[in-house]
Amino acid sequence: MTSIPDITLNNGQTIPQLGFGVFLIEPKDTATAVSRALKAGYRHIDTAEGYGNEAEVGEAIAKSGLDRGEVFVTSKLGNDAHEPDDARRAFDETLKALGTEYVDLFLIHWPLPDRYGGDFVQTWRVLEEVYRDGRARSIGVSNFQPRHLRRLHGEAEIIPAVNQIEVNPHLTQDELRGFCAEHQIAVEAWSPLGRGGVLAEPVIQSIANRAGKTPAQVVLRWHIQRGDIVFPKSVTPARIKENIDIFDFELPATDVEDITLLNKNERTGPDPDKFNGR
Ligand code: NDP
Repeated sequence: MTSIPDITLNNGQTIPQLGFGVFLIEPKDTATAVSRALKAGYRHIDTAEGYGNEAEVGEAIAKSGLDRGEVFVTSKLGNDAHEPDDARRAFDETLKALGTEYVDLFLIHWPLPDRYGGDFVQTWRVLEEVYRDGRARSIGVSNFQPRHLRRLHGEAEIIPAVNQIEVNPHLTQDELRGFCAEHQIAVEAWSPLGRGGVLAEPVIQSIANRAGKTPAQVVLRWHIQRGDIVFPKSVTPARIKENIDIFDFELPATDVEDITLLNKNERTGPDPDKFNGR
């Protein structure tokens, strides 16, 4: 079976560098997709309260025959639950939906600039509580910009283990990634395939032809060689297998650079400085 490298987080916990994302998978299709991913060898699932499919993720893991400790599970706090008491309740509900006593990683999903008086630190303190009581083995943030991270550095006791941000060849995020590297925060690249939008790039197609791999495999390999954590989503059985079959080849440094040069600072998702979660 494909061997997926681990990344060691700033608290010593490890996370498989490649996982499986379930955003926009209908609840009715989620257990099947996650079961297929686990059979193909994925051991890391990325979900969120907002995806509405935590229960189905939990169902597939329970049915897989794998021990809970063999699968790394991430979930994220809903945008309507940033008030501390709501966040505590929401975290309990996430564990209940997943049918598990702990999550491996729990994230604040969005910083939400114009809600809760811009105070994500009070929310972060709830994540620190669930980290301390062991129900979240690691805690982190998503869609945080350097100024949000600086504020946590100044006011929080625990530094986020990860920042989950949009990264793909059209949005290479090298400044934010550099900031995270300097502060020992691992980067998780969401929508690593740009939702499919980067796969027709001639540079990527020609590297794929030369490597005897598909454009998606080349893009995922580019992320892995840059050191980011990825979890491509697919409901297509052949693609689920294709996306994990990326550990038997290496891109030359020049290919990695050529793909990085495709950057256009173009987002497919919301801008974290404007997005308020509804
Ligand atoms: P991805 O970049 O993973 O792209 C998914 C799309 O690409 C789907 O349409 C899928 O189609 C298609 N696809 C998958 N594999 C291939 C392939 N090998 N060849 C061609 N097309 C392919 O986008 P996502 O937005 O789903 O991002 C991945 C994960 O990141 C999410 O599931 C979620 O876990 C996380 N995320 C986090 C966010 C955050 O704010 N923190 C925001 C957005 C995503 P099909 O399914 O039909 O096969």
